Amino acid sequence: MELESKLSELGKNLKSSLIRELLKFASLPGSISFGGGVPDPDTFPRHELAQIAQEVTEKEYKYTLQYNTTEGDDELAQQMIKLLERTYGITDVSRDNIIFTTGSQQALDLIARIFLDKDSICFVEYPVYLGAASAFRMTLTQFETIPLEDDGINIDYFEKKLEELDKEGKRKNFRFLYTVPNFHNPAGVTMSLEKRKRLIEVCNKYDIIILEDDPYGALRFEGESLPSLYSLGGPERVVLLNTFSKILTPGMRIGVIIGRADIVRKVNMAKQGADLCSPGLNQRIVARYLERYDIFAHLKPAIELYRKKKDTMIKALEENFSDIEGTHWVNPTGGLFIWLTLPEEFDTMEMFDMAKEKKIYYIPGEAFTIDDSKSSSMRLSFCLPSEEQIIEGVERLKKVVVEYGKKKGLI
Ligand SMILES: *Cc1c(COP(=O)(O)O)cnc(C)c1O
Repeated sequence: MELESKLSELGKNLKSSLIRELLKFASLPGSISFGGGVPDPDTFPRHELAQIAQEVTEKEYKYTLQYNTTEGDDELAQQMIKLLERTYGITDVSRDNIIFTTGSQQALDLIARIFLDKDSICFVEYPVYLGAASAFRMTLTQFETIPLEDDGINIDYFEKKLEELDKEGKRKNFRFLYTVPNFHNPAGVTMSLEKRKRLIEVCNKYDIIILEDDPYGALRFEGESLPSLYSLGGPERVVLLNTFSKILTPGMRIGVIIGRADIVRKVNMAKQGADLCSPGLNQRIVARYLERYDIFAHLKPAIELYRKKKDTMIKALEENFSDIEGTHWVNPTGGLFIWLTLPEEFDTMEMFDMAKEKKIYYIPGEAFTIDDSKSSSMRLSFCLPSEEQIIEGVERLKKVVVEYGKKKGLI
């Protein structure tokens, strides 16, 4: 059979993930990888989860081993309501504002399905979280990108863009702005309170939904947490996505959408066609975990571990990169990533071949663009390598940058 002629337009256009291709060799001996954006497995409470898993499988098998409802476990929903209050101070969420999804990734996919048509206008940040871009791309091929600054998206740019599109008569096509306000993946930045308030005003004015994706909010190293967009704008303006992937374990694949009841109902109908329900067993395990243990107390050592590694990486960057003019990075106050930007003429994708030779891995900024445009930035993750590896890795990276810069006549 000739496959190409049988494939849908979408099927034809699917490409394998750049990150997967790039990181294929990152596990070879002697390699140091700043690539993987996954939590440290030693932070997973494996013994507690294993014990609960055995219990609920044997004693509650009529629920946990059966088909679940599409909206998910009511016990987990009750725990979620408590967690939302603790995390965000949100108190007015009821059961019909909540639907559990198979990771936030499915939430992104379902939201795209219920809101986007081919001619819709959807706003994303630049750089953009890859998972969101690939979910939205299933429906849309064109996006409006809003540049990120050190304190969140460039709202002046966003407003100007909206004004322009509105003048062209496109307001009816506006759908949503997707944003990661806390400890952005990949940019590491956090949206300031002032910008959060302005963003709500602007989106109210142009009637745009805000899709707030907050997997990292609880992984704060220092300072007070800022009010979520959902707390500021309410369910009339904001749909909030959350996940247990970064605060407990990604293996459970439990994400959640908090939103207006009619939006949640639409998502529910779309989810029925996607997978009927998310695993009841996993949801009940997490519900029991939250009932029995204090997840924030559990997170403390994990946050401390990430904070120390982050500090080590920032110090290494200061020691190695301060003398390369035009290099820029933001010291993140939480999350898992540092976004390193080299002088404009550097192409971190092209430079990757040299990095590979020195066995140091990062994700080139190009991977976080919508249109594969060249980038002088890269995402560095500090969560998996040890502190010694971080120091050694940044030194290797410096050598790569100098070698590449000299070869290209840039430094
Ligand atoms: C890791 C991450 C998620 C989580 O996705 P899951 O499907 O819940 O594992 C969502 N959004 C962003 C920005 C992330 O970095």
